[in-house]
Amino acid sequence: MKLTKARRDILEIFKNSNYPLSAEQLFELLKKEYDLSTIYRNLNFFEKNSALKSIVFSDKVKYFYSGEGHFHFIYCVKCKKFEKFDLCYEDKISQYIKENLKFEILNHTLYFEGICQDCRN
Ligand SMILES: [Zn+2]
Ligand SMILES: [Zn+2]
Repeated sequence: MKLTKARRDILEIFKNSNYPLSAEQLFELLKKEYDLSTIYRNLNFFEKNSALKSIVFSDKVKYFYSGEGHFHFIYCVKCKKFEKFDLCYEDKISQYIKENLKFEILNHTLYFEGICQDCRN
């Protein structure tokens, strides 16, 4: 994988981020050093190379996150904020998948959508 400065800068941000990021958020975090089309092009590149994965919630915004590791998030559909949590269902679910679907699990990502406490008040 060839790393231009833009690609290095983008990967660096994902390495330090605990949360998935949209292209617009990345654009802000990079202090507008690169234009949005450069960012989109590189995000697509990383996704093709499995360095990043992405998820689309009901608001249709695509969020990217590191292709490595382990992600558990709840996403507020009103204020669009993410919260991370550590509780893992891995054992029960992988047992189920192994037994019933005959798959061997390599990794997983767990997302919930909801409404946070601030938005409910
Ligand atoms: Zn909220
Ligand atoms: Zn887990």
